[in-house]
Amino acid sequence: MRTSLAASQDEVRRYNLAAVLQRLHIGGPVSRSELVALTGLNRSTVGALVTELAEQGLVVEGPGVAGTVGRPSLMVMPQPRSAIVLAFDFRVDRTVGAVVGLGGETISRVERSRQRSEFAPDLSVAQLIDMAHELLEEVPEETLWVGTGVGVPGIVNERTGVVSQAPNLGWIDVPFAQMVTDALRKEFGEVPATVTSNDADLGALAEHTRGAAVDSGNVIYISGEVGIGGGVVLGGALMTGAGGFGGEIGHMIVNPTGVECRCGSRGCWETVIGRGAVLSCIQDSKPVGDVQDVINAALAGDADVQERLAAVGRWLGIGLVNLINIFNPEVIVLGGHLGQLFSAVAEEVEEQIGHALRAPREQVRVALPALGEDSTLIGASESAFASLLSRPIEAVSESSTFVTSK
Ligand SMILES: [Zn+2]
Repeated sequence: MRTSLAASQDEVRRYNLAAVLQRLHIGGPVSRSELVALTGLNRSTVGALVTELAEQGLVVEGPGVAGTVGRPSLMVMPQPRSAIVLAFDFRVDRTVGAVVGLGGETISRVERSRQRSEFAPDLSVAQLIDMAHELLEEVPEETLWVGTGVGVPGIVNERTGVVSQAPNLGWIDVPFAQMVTDALRKEFGEVPATVTSNDADLGALAEHTRGAAVDSGNVIYISGEVGIGGGVVLGGALMTGAGGFGGEIGHMIVNPTGVECRCGSRGCWETVIGRGAVLSCIQDSKPVGDVQDVINAALAGDADVQERLAAVGRWLGIGLVNLINIFNPEVIVLGGHLGQLFSAVAEEVEEQIGHALRAPREQVRVALPALGEDSTLIGASESAFASLLSRPIEAVSESSTFVTSK
């Protein structure tokens, strides 16, 4: 009996340590008394937990902010350089990478473009490795490296890290997480596991945890890139579906007589609101640079462009109506070019949203990402921190993965 009691006490301690570290990682510095209030634990328990986390180097205690009334309270602060992750947002046209420290501080960040000829999985992995070298240069040796997270624009089995299908990259059944881990190991020796996830799922989680939808449990994040991805958070948890493949709203068929989609179907939402659809609003011989050029042409009074862009706006609104009616979200976050598009054709979009059912329509707001272009990148870093945050002491003491070779 004694051992089972001890075991359950140990479990409770572990659970509480995780709760305290998670609170500090997401919410930033707080005083011990605030931690008492936030966790519902008593003062001496919180004190013991903070001491244990401090002994591992994950947090420090220091004087509170000057100017507070009364006796200044000691603040418990996460230590950004005690544990780091590598995070990548792997897009069709470029890759963004970062080293993120405990507490969410971005320590280094790099961005590389990619040509269509460089889509092959092995070339993609080589690019990530090259970026990892540059990113880790900023990190002192012997820093604990607790995970690597990668967002990919495709359908991903998060458990196995296999990208089942990425239509815009031409990938089918690519064991990307394993490839990245193997390549990192070759360069850096012992490395932590790689978590690979759908890019929009990560965007949804990041905006829900740290961004435009912090106080909302029902959120849809739409990534507007070459393709259109979706991440759906319902009741505070990511909707995965049976195999983790749910939320592919870009392949919702809105126009069965429309153009063929890269997924093999016809008239998917992504064919009418993806970046290509916006760029094709300018139909002359000059190559169009980006979405902003199209919007500028419309603003400058080009009637043809205005008309085509308005049509894209209506398609955006039609898809949003379907999502509002099906999921009853509180917030829909428009990532990538969809935010720019929405700002340019808000009237057309709002007009369509007016066709949604009244009750869910009255509860929804459309927002731009609070994390700017980095929603997916931040989400990837959070996925890489998950193992440390769920078992802090074990993760530190069992880990032999330090940043060593450069
Ligand atoms: Zn499709």
